[in-house]
Amino acid sequence: MPLLVMKFGGTSVADLDRIANAAQKVQREVERGYDVIVIVSAMSGKTNELVGWVEKTSPLYDAREYDAVVSSGENVTAGLMALRLQEMGIPARSWQGWQVPINTTSAHGSARFVSIPPDNMNAKFAEGFKVAVVAGFQGLSAEGRITTLGRGGSDTTAVAFAAAFGAERCDIYTDVDGVYTTDPRICSKARKLEKIAFEEMLELASLGAKVLQTRSVELAMRYKVRLRVLSSFEDTDETSGTLVCDEDEIMESKVVSGVAYSRDEAKMTLVKVEDRPGIAAAIFGPLADAGVNVDMIVQNISELDDPSDKRAYTDMTFSLPTNQVERAKKAMEDAKAAGQFAYAKLVTDTDVAKISVVGIGMRSQVGVAAKMFAALAAENVNIKVISTSEIKISVLIDRKYMELAVQALHDVFELDKA
Ligand code: ADP
Ligand code: ASP
Ligand code: MG
Repeated sequence: MPLLVMKFGGTSVADLDRIANAAQKVQREVERGYDVIVIVSAMSGKTNELVGWVEKTSPLYDAREYDAVVSSGENVTAGLMALRLQEMGIPARSWQGWQVPINTTSAHGSARFVSIPPDNMNAKFAEGFKVAVVAGFQGLSAEGRITTLGRGGSDTTAVAFAAAFGAERCDIYTDVDGVYTTDPRICSKARKLEKIAFEEMLELASLGAKVLQTRSVELAMRYKVRLRVLSSFEDTDETSGTLVCDEDEIMESKVVSGVAYSRDEAKMTLVKVEDRPGIAAAIFGPLADAGVNVDMIVQNISELDDPSDKRAYTDMTFSLPTNQVERAKKAMEDAKAAGQFAYAKLVTDTDVAKISVVGIGMRSQVGVAAKMFAALAAENVNIKVISTSEIKISVLIDRKYMELAVQALHDVFELDKA
C-alpha cells in the first residue's frame, strides 16, 4: 500500500474543530488509497505553557523531567485525532514515541533520532489499520526515558517517519500556505515559492524561519524525502504549497531567494582582552563547555587608554541566543576568576536581531553584500556584526529596526517578483 506522512502543527490542531478539519484531510488521502502516518503537534500554546510550568517549579530543572512534562501535549492531540478518525469510520490508533519505539539519543531537550524500527507499526497496518497517529516531538532514550527533539521538533518526526517507512511524500500542514520569500507576517510583499532548494531551506530555517525545523530539512535532504509545506486551512491537492527539493529541479533561480530574521539574539563583548596566541581558544572553550551556541564572532583592536602599557589588547564580540546569556556570563566570570584570561569589562546587548539573506545564486555572483549593506544604510540601520558563508550573509542590528530591515532587503532584491 502506498504511504503518506501528514504532519499537523499546533495551530492546525488548536481545538476540536481544527482537529476535525485535519482529520478530513487525512480521510481524503485514505480514500485515495493511501495508508497514512499522521504526526501531530501539541495544541498551539500548550508546549509554551508546559515549559513555563517546568521553569516555575524548578528553574535549574532536571532535563529528564522537563521532557516528561513538555512531551505530554502531543499525547493529548494524538489520542484526540485517533478518536476523531475512528468516529469517521477510519481504523486508526495513536502511538506515543516509546510505543513505536522512536529511539533517540539521551540529549534531553534536543535529542536526535537513532532508529525507528517499522515492524510494530507495519504489523498494525497489515491488520487493517489505515492510519497511525504519532505524537510528534518525542522519543525514547536508551535509558528508557522520554526525550524531546527541540522546539519545532514535530517537523523532524514527520521527515524521520517518511524516511523510515519510505513514504511517497511528507506533507507539512501549517498555518501558512507554503514557504515564502520571507515571513509573510512581517512583510506583506512576501511571495510564496513553488519550490525551494534543500540547501536554501536549510539556511533559512537555521537563520530563524521557523516554518520548518532545521533538522527536518537536513534529514529530508539526506534521505531524499519529498517534502512539502502547505495550508491546513485551505483546500489542497497534489500541487498545493511549496515543494522542498533538489537544486536541479528548480528552473528559476534568483541570486537571493529569501530573507530570514531571528529576534532571539544577543551580543556580548569582552572589552580589552590581552591579544596573544590562544586567547580565542581560552574564551570560546569555556563557552562551548557551558553549552553556549556562539554564532557570529568579531575581534577588534582595543582602544589604548594607557600609553605606558605596551601589551596588545583586543575586544572580542560574539552573538548568542538570548536565553543563553546568563550561562555565558557565568562561564566568562568563572574563567576570569580562575585566571584563564582577563578582561576589563563584559558588555551585553540583548536588544539585537539577526537578519540574513540567502540564495544559492550567491555562489557565482559578486556584489550581494555591498547591495545589502547599501540598502540598510539607506534606511539608517547600523550594522553591528557581519558574517557570511557561501550562500548567506547575516548582520546583527538593533531589534527595533528588524521589520524595516527585512522589508528593505525584500525590496532591494526584488523578491516580490518571480
Ligand atoms: P506549526 O505550528 O504548524 O509548526 P510554525 O509556527 O512552527 O507552525 O511555523 C509557521 C510559521 O512560520 C508561519 O506562521 C510564519 O509566520 C513563520 N515563517 C517564518 N518565515 C517563514 C517563511 N519564509 N515562509 C513561511 N512562513 C514563515
Ligand atoms: N509542540 C512542540 C513545540 O511547540 C513541537 C512542535 O510543535 O513541532 O515546539
Ligand atoms: Mg513548527
